[in-house]
Amino acid sequence: MRKPIIAGNWKMYKTAGEGVILVQELNALTNAVNDVEIVVCPPFTALPAIAAAVAGTNIGLGAQNMHWEEKGAFTGEIAPGMLKDIGCTHVIIGHSERRQYFAETDQTVNNKLKAALKAGLKPIMCVGETLIDREANATKRVVGAQVKGGLDGLSGQQVAGLVIAYEPIWAIGTGRTASAEDANEVCAFIRRTVAEMFDQPSAESLRIQYGGSVKPDNVAELMAKPDIDGALVGGASLEAESFSKLVKFK
Ligand code: 13P
Repeated sequence: MRKPIIAGNWKMYKTAGEGVILVQELNALTNAVNDVEIVVCPPFTALPAIAAAVAGTNIGLGAQNMHWEEKGAFTGEIAPGMLKDIGCTHVIIGHSERRQYFAETDQTVNNKLKAALKAGLKPIMCVGETLIDREANATKRVVGAQVKGGLDGLSGQQVAGLVIAYEPIWAIGTGRTASAEDANEVCAFIRRTVAEMFDQPSAESLRIQYGGSVKPDNVAELMAKPDIDGALVGGASLEAESFSKLVKFK
């Protein structure tokens, strides 16, 4: 059985102080949950304060991005070891906003994935198609290429412990969710692609999240699908009450 993983991507919201209040409220609502992995991904500047606030709780801490080099002259970048050092357990890699606005490619995603694994961080690799891709019936071609490019050169064992987030770009922040059937179809396709690239047991243990306008009123239907193992949540993760409802989707 794959343990569900619900992760909140705070994007460019919340100061350190605001974030501490949010996780304290969240912890009060979710501290009895032990059958769902809970992760929050604040902006870099809030990570140290949130690391202290989640210490000893069941809430994991993820960054939203990182560089793939261990150190060097890369002004403005953050190294994997720096994230590990301040207590991060997870890191989001290749979010569609990074691909769209900051020129990330399958190659940089692949570099970052390898570096995160080497540093002992658990990556959440994001994939997803645009509306134009979907309307051109190119979803599987686009997502398949992202999966293959992103996971190139990894071992089956590494892939088995990975989280992939399927986030159709047209469903992010728009209030438009993919239907649970459509979302599951692409998640199942991702699992098949991983099985072809590596092996069936690795594909079976890989966890796949859906992301894109996940809210308290649609989470149960999405989570009931066999190939959807969790959610990567933007807007609804910025408030403790709504995020706790996602964590307690059952
Ligand atoms: P929303 O939940 O706000 O649509 O954002 C989804 C997302 O991009 C999470 O990474």
